[in-house]
Amino acid sequence: MEPAEEGLQMVSRVSEAAFATSGLRIDSPELRAYLERVTCRVADEHCPDVRPYGAAIPDFNASMAPNGFMQIWTGLLLRVESEAQLAAVIGHEISHYVQRHSLERFETTQRTANVLLAAQLGTAFGGVGGPSIGPLRFDPSQVGELVAQGYLAAYSRDQEAEADRRGLRNLVEAGYAPGAAAQVWANLMEERRACDLPTPPALFASHPPSEERLRSLRELAQGIQNRGEEGQTDFLEATLPHRQRWLRMELTAGHLCRVRVVIERLLEQERGLGVLRYYQGEVYRKRGEEGDLDRAVRAYRQALEHDDAPVGTRRDLGLALERAGREEAARNAFRDYLEANEEAGDRAMVQQYLKELGS
Ligand SMILES: [Zn+2]
Repeated sequence: MEPAEEGLQMVSRVSEAAFATSGLRIDSPELRAYLERVTCRVADEHCPDVRPYGAAIPDFNASMAPNGFMQIWTGLLLRVESEAQLAAVIGHEISHYVQRHSLERFETTQRTANVLLAAQLGTAFGGVGGPSIGPLRFDPSQVGELVAQGYLAAYSRDQEAEADRRGLRNLVEAGYAPGAAAQVWANLMEERRACDLPTPPALFASHPPSEERLRSLRELAQGIQNRGEEGQTDFLEATLPHRQRWLRMELTAGHLCRVRVVIERLLEQERGLGVLRYYQGEVYRKRGEEGDLDRAVRAYRQALEHDDAPVGTRRDLGLALERAGREEAARNAFRDYLEANEEAGDRAMVQQYLKELGS
């Protein structure tokens, strides 16, 4: 093995070990099993080499290290609409892996960063800065930062084109809809455009997007006879139980615009509507632009029409109404909340709200 490759393998092992014990790893056995199933289906003969981990990070990214350590971020799982779209990203990453692109990429950056430096960073694959990795620590969602600083080069245009081509072949051979790959990029580019993001989605850092790329993926897909399956039912079954937590993480990270755009797209699937409408309400209540309180009230009320509306919906509806100066309606919402949630941990606080509203 060449020194550069040996170094890369070492970095990969360190990254994986740090990740496996970090709090970022998703601990749901069902979700893990699902990710493994989809990965194996699209990886085919490379299945035994690949170890996919869900990572609790609110941005769109997936990455794969040369030792088979694959990360799939929750921000990606929240944004893809079907198993075919998930498989498209996984298939693309596996193509980079099979073609040993990260080694090529690494060798091109070796002039400035030697193997040891990368080992100290320990995060060359979007990994984590765990306690034992060395002097440098940083937020693993800052892959873009690493690229900007020259520690990690983006894949080249040729590498990307090749991974797109091979990834699409993996996707189709696994029986998935070929159009899914282009759709992933189209959605992501739309999100960036709509929100005018100061930092683009993390995946963009290592996989530079372009209109040309989108066009060529669409053309490739159109040339394929086999229509394949979207696998939306299985995907929703595996991810819906987690969606609420993922949306909350995005909001905590301040992604108001991005969440709004994602929710509008997911609403079209007509599943998990109580959760989606609730978070739509949250986005508007937190944004607080002209007319947003009315939008928030409308969204919370729509959420309450569905069984899966989160328990806090009535309370947050009350808060929005109170801020909008609709005191009587706010009182009713708070009372409804207390009545519907006898065990609510924030009972005393909501009773205080009621007192302040004069009841
Ligand atoms: Zn790529």
